[in-house]
Amino acid sequence: MTKADILQILREQEVRFLRLQFTDILGINKNVELPASQFEKALDGEVMFDGSTIEGFTRSEEADMLLKPDYSTFLVFPEELESTHQGRVARLICDIAYPDGRPFEGDPRQVLKAQLERLRRMGFDDLYAGPEPEFFLFTRTPEGDPSTVTHDRAGYFDLAPLDKGEEARREMVNVLVQMGFEIEASHHEVAPGQHEIDFKYSGALRTADNITTFKFVVKKVALKYGLHATFMPKPIAGINGSGLHMHLSLFKGGANAFYDPEGENKLSEVALYFIQGLLEHAEGMVAITNPLVNSYKRLTPGYEAPTSIAWSDSNRSAMIRVPARRGLGTRAEFRAPDPSCNPYLALAVILAAGIDGIKKRELPPPPIERNIYQLSVRDRRKHKVSELPGTLREALEALQKDEVIREALGEHLYKQFLRAKQVEWNSYRSSVHQWELEQYLAEY
Ligand code: GLU
Ligand code: MG
Ligand code: MG
Repeated sequence: MTKADILQILREQEVRFLRLQFTDILGINKNVELPASQFEKALDGEVMFDGSTIEGFTRSEEADMLLKPDYSTFLVFPEELESTHQGRVARLICDIAYPDGRPFEGDPRQVLKAQLERLRRMGFDDLYAGPEPEFFLFTRTPEGDPSTVTHDRAGYFDLAPLDKGEEARREMVNVLVQMGFEIEASHHEVAPGQHEIDFKYSGALRTADNITTFKFVVKKVALKYGLHATFMPKPIAGINGSGLHMHLSLFKGGANAFYDPEGENKLSEVALYFIQGLLEHAEGMVAITNPLVNSYKRLTPGYEAPTSIAWSDSNRSAMIRVPARRGLGTRAEFRAPDPSCNPYLALAVILAAGIDGIKKRELPPPPIERNIYQLSVRDRRKHKVSELPGTLREALEALQKDEVIREALGEHLYKQFLRAKQVEWNSYRSSVHQWELEQYLAEY
């Protein structure tokens, strides 16, 4: 798509507003909205914004940043999702640059691009990633504030009429399809009020763009139905939390490089090295793939979320599962990430870990076929299974020790991320929680 093509579509579809989108390091969607008079300037990458107000972006002396649109991300939002009586709305996802045009090191999208570039230099085509975002739909209070109440009592794959969120979910799917998403499945998840919409895998950059778009659509449609959609990893104790499993494979010369009909289990050495890389760097990267204090409440035994650093052929308690499909669909499912992560950074550190594995050529220990939640201490030792960090604080400590992950993030972004997360942890640590009051107030 060229500049002229885009201008023509903008005119023909009577688009009145263009959103230039990007994410901050915490994965929050940001955008600058422009009226028609600014469309050309926007397409030429000459629109500036003040980066100093956005988490992790700039020091105040270099506040002005340029938004460089990626033309391949252009789309006009469907009318159901976004249109005003003044006209329709379109968007472009942007890279961020200094006023002199140099790419900005604090831009998560470019952090991912840099890892993909390394992968291409090693002769691979792309990292393909298929995400499985889970989320909850909750009711809102009469004042419109989100609650944790769901009036839905459906369970995994249940059919209507129990599933009250179904109507909203159907519209989400409709809107996403109109925006070019290929939806593979949409279903109720295990917990009441919990849903999952799976869309087709793409190259990692497109997938990260898609995840940010997906979250925006889901939240917006939920709001239209008077509901609140949340990607918080563990909104309710005692039931499943929400994951963002990533199905991963590398392609080389158009073929799936994880598949080898001669290999053990029909997996290639590249697949095994990549898995070993994920195992080795799991501790160091969870601060990125699971970035909230709350993320670690999801990573507890018994809720289909991983707690141990292990891989398996089929087992949902493992951090990495290799689904049965072989041939073009051969892949590893990384089950640690949750949907509160910044998808650009998550895929960048996943790839950095995998590349490190390929470079070191170390094989992983044999896969574990038993329920990992139930392994004894002895078995854990025997299979060399260690635990994922149990808190954000432990995850940040592991991140600080992992050179490969730090290097992938780059010095600027790493420091900003660490600082923001340390502040978050300290604020959590110094507050008194409801649980403590319930346990201690009367007793002591
Ligand atoms: N909700 C689970 C998680 O937290 C995953 C359930 C599933 O296997 O789809 O990861
Ligand atoms: Mg699921
Ligand atoms: Mg899954």
